[in-house]
Amino acid sequence: MAIQSIGIVGAGQMGNGIAHVCALAGYDVVLSDVSQDALNAATALIDKNLERQVGREKIDAAEKDAAMGRIRTTLKLADVGPTDLIIEAATERETVKQAIFEDLLPHLKPNTILTSNTSSISITRLASRTDRPEKFMGFHFMNPVPVMQLVELIRGIATDEETFQACKSVVDALGKTAATAEDFPAFIVNRILMPMINEAVYTLYEGVGNVTSIDMAMKLGTNHPMGPLELADFIGLDTCLAIMNVLHDGLADTKYRPCPLLTKYVEAGWLGRKTQRGFYDYRGEEPVPTR
Ligand code: NAD
Repeated sequence: MAIQSIGIVGAGQMGNGIAHVCALAGYDVVLSDVSQDALNAATALIDKNLERQVGREKIDAAEKDAAMGRIRTTLKLADVGPTDLIIEAATERETVKQAIFEDLLPHLKPNTILTSNTSSISITRLASRTDRPEKFMGFHFMNPVPVMQLVELIRGIATDEETFQACKSVVDALGKTAATAEDFPAFIVNRILMPMINEAVYTLYEGVGNVTSIDMAMKLGTNHPMGPLELADFIGLDTCLAIMNVLHDGLADTKYRPCPLLTKYVEAGWLGRKTQRGFYDYRGEEPVPTR
């Protein structure tokens, strides 16, 4: 099952990065979103990030132009249907993802593999709502996609071996490394990472430390390249909250309860870097802690 074309649904932080690496690896890419602004921003960002790679002599100008030439953007979800592999990277909300897969079904080729970049939602449950649970799996990139080496591949209960191998060969072609995970809430990386971020927010909420001291303590005390609050801003606080809710609901354990302060930031629309404000304010030259 050789993959030549890849459809990506959602052109946000993750979708643009996924389009970037897939086009650079030689796949024909169809990138869709419900927002023309998101598509325009994604195209501009991919161009800028490829240009940076040219500047660092990681790729040459011809490779950049070829990659840009392989990306087609569209507002029509149906245009994504006739690709060999679809990677859904829309907002982390199960109803949104279910509606996307339902709307895609009439437009798919019989062999199209469906995947989701979800950070936490059950692959088995998403798959069960489609006509091809055996051709459905989790394809979980890390942020920022062009930089991060890992892709988690998550098998649903029905995923067949051929689908797994086809997805694994795409990960290899992207020059990335696959880690396989079972389909339990938040898989491996976020099962471990998000409770740590949530605990950092509790540490802030309870006044144990402020934004600066918490991030500095974790950077210098545990050799993490970023502090947990800085990382939360980078991921998106809405995504962090959504993952904590999935862990809390899916594992029914109070140790996963989302910190009320995290909820408050999301209610304020302070979602981190993507909205210019989160645990830090990014509107000036330098990020300034908001607490
Ligand atoms: P984002 O908010 O930056 O982008 C989501 C995009 O989806 C937006 O452009 C939005 O317009 C679009 N969208 C919403 N509904 C849509 C629909 N019906 N059809 C098409 N497009 C639609 O979010 P993101 O950070 O890119 O996250 C996307 C997915 O990737 C989520 O499932 C998230 O859990 C996952 N993920 C995120 C990270 C991260 O660090 N941010 C890492 C790994 C995986």
